[in-house]
Amino acid sequence: MTQPAHGMLAYCRPGFEGECAQELASHDARLATGGFVRSQRDSGFVEFVLPDASAANRFADSVRWQDLTFARQLLRVRARVAELPREDRLGVLMPAIRTMGHGYLDAWIESPDSDAARELAGLCRSLGNALVAAMKRESLIDPKSTCRLHVCLTDAQNAFIAEAESDRTCRWPGGIPRLRFPAAAPSRSTLKLEEALLTLLDADERERWLKPGMTAVDLGAAPGGWTWQLVRRSMSVTAVDNGPMDQKLIDSGLVTHLREDGFRYRPAEAVDWMVCDMVEQPRKVAARMAEWLAGGWCRQTVFNLKLPMKKRFDEVQLCRNMIEEAVATNGKRIEWRARQLYHDREEITVFARTA
Ligand code: SAM
Repeated sequence: MTQPAHGMLAYCRPGFEGECAQELASHDARLATGGFVRSQRDSGFVEFVLPDASAANRFADSVRWQDLTFARQLLRVRARVAELPREDRLGVLMPAIRTMGHGYLDAWIESPDSDAARELAGLCRSLGNALVAAMKRESLIDPKSTCRLHVCLTDAQNAFIAEAESDRTCRWPGGIPRLRFPAAAPSRSTLKLEEALLTLLDADERERWLKPGMTAVDLGAAPGGWTWQLVRRSMSVTAVDNGPMDQKLIDSGLVTHLREDGFRYRPAEAVDWMVCDMVEQPRKVAARMAEWLAGGWCRQTVFNLKLPMKKRFDEVQLCRNMIEEAVATNGKRIEWRARQLYHDREEITVFARTA
């Protein structure tokens, strides 16, 4: 059974559906699109229902996945499918896809990141291969299209048929980057900074802003997973932490280890980057980040904000406002990009830069 639908579908970390819904609702209020949220705790996704195609188009045109903190992916819902027959799921999906009236760059079958839906991984793979083959036979895969088809299986019988412009969405199925842990890195935290640089910057920015010879400060650096990411790009790093740093990093000759308090340390000269992974109250970290950015001690930063148990969306807004206000008093503006990364748990990661 297929029903046309108008709305957005966001994937998120299970347990953060409330924050993801609040964020979509805040855009809905700004755009006056008149939508409402349908979500279930720990499902790993949020459906934002919009009243008609025009409202859904307006929402999709105005809000990109890149603008959201708590969504790993943002898709435009075109139909809901129920009672997919086990023996012939394609027999239901293909007629629905034909009615969309255009071809797609590619087609992905995905499931949310919840415990229940993760068991659908095998089905997603086999059905995905069969779907792409069937779409190719009917010339519904079109290399010139900029739009990708997403079929999201919420269980073996129910699905959303959704689509998205490929440059406005996350480029990994399910919004999850499958990064390999680099054997030489001293801690798994390294994947957080790697994911942050991959998702919060584009390829051109990575090339321009992460150059050999640049300088960086890493606050709360030990044992050195984040420092390792900077050193591997041939940057010189001042690592501030009372804990021990990985010896191989020190031996690289690119790292100066200072056993100092990261909340007091101030560089003698401005650096290109400051990164910060100190586990502290978000407001305390935000106040410190505000000082660095407003004082011009660094040009750009990546930092983590550990989230409180309650009012997590509001806390992020508050921290952002604190930093923006501090920077504005020095006549500057900041560019703010934030995301709860796949490798983040109860935290978000922020890239900020003075403009
Ligand atoms: N980013 C590191 C990595 O990739 O290996 C992991 C950092 S760990 C999550 C947090 C670190 O912050 C700890 O090593 C801790 O010693 C340090 N830390 C906490 N408070 C600090 C402070 N006030 N000054 C300096 N370091 C601090």
